[in-house]
Amino acid sequence: MIAGNRTINYLRISITDRCNFRCRYCVPSTPFSVIEHGKIARYEEILRIARLACDLGITKIRITGGEPFVRKDIFSFLEQLCAIKSLKDVSITTNGSLLTREKIEKLISLGIKRLNFSLDTLDPVRFEQITGRDRFQQVWEAIFTSHELGINPVKINGVMLRGINDDEIEAITALTLKFPFHIRFIEYMPMGDSAVEKQQQILTQEIKSRIESRFGELEPVKKGSNDGPAKKFKIKGAMGIVGFITPISSHFCAECNRLRLTSRGTLRPCLLNNYEKDIINPLRNGVSDDELKDIILTALTKKPSFHGLSDSSGKDIPISHMTSIGG
Ligand code: SAM
Ligand code: SF4
Repeated sequence: MIAGNRTINYLRISITDRCNFRCRYCVPSTPFSVIEHGKIARYEEILRIARLACDLGITKIRITGGEPFVRKDIFSFLEQLCAIKSLKDVSITTNGSLLTREKIEKLISLGIKRLNFSLDTLDPVRFEQITGRDRFQQVWEAIFTSHELGINPVKINGVMLRGINDDEIEAITALTLKFPFHIRFIEYMPMGDSAVEKQQQILTQEIKSRIESRFGELEPVKKGSNDGPAKKFKIKGAMGIVGFITPISSHFCAECNRLRLTSRGTLRPCLLNNYEKDIINPLRNGVSDDELKDIILTALTKKPSFHGLSDSSGKDIPISHMTSIGG
């Protein structure tokens, strides 16, 4: 599929807006409601859309949320998803808190080789302050069990916030010295009514120079064909990789190959632009596969060539939170 001069081969599917965590940079600061069950796309509906998207050229799918593993029967869904023949890669982004050894083994048996975990601190007390949950140990174990069982790469996403966890930039980076992890620092994106203030946002340049003053100049790492938007580096002699995801300081729209399907069954061509195209209602109203494919292609014609989040006027700040769109 083509959008402008970009080839779109990556579909990111949010299977739920629900989450067992309350990360302060992700969920709204004020009380919020979750989407009614009846409005959430059912697995068979998601699978139909996924198959059609694969017919149109999608070869990579990432499952996200909310927290994907809070949704019931995720494993039978994943099994059917992984059975799509033209699909080359299925991966999952998770907070890791519900991933036991048995579940990780099951994922591996389905052919899932890549997992992205979110971890913003190495301190269990701080972990609870950031996520609202006392689950550090479970996440830590899930990360190391995945590594031990051969998940490769194990990616760890961290959102660094000034005065909250920025004093751990070096310690988190140091994990790459001993383990082949990909540590990726994601710039905080203001999403609607968030508890995080603008001054707490730390941009990549600052994080990178702090890492370099501790560990020496970072060596650039060439991107692989399967790589996402992270700019990748290595500490000299390290086993792992340090990546920077820079939606604010240097947007990567020109190379964005993604389309999103939200848990509400809408197609969203850009995370940071509020345009969404309904696909679930036409599907529920009985339209044909060809009509659904047209809806997918129409959504892509609206993929913006760049987002406005770095615009200081903030006029294009998305109104939804990550949990409702799918991060
Ligand atoms: N629950 C799963 C998890 O935490 O990995 C998957 C969904 S979560 C929304 C996906 C990613 O979005 C996480 O790595 C999280 O750190 C990131 N994220 C959430 N809110 C963010 C924000 N406002 N700015 C930048 N990244 C954010
Ligand atoms: Fe949940 Fe992930 Fe958002 Fe944290 S970042 S609240 S774990 S969806």
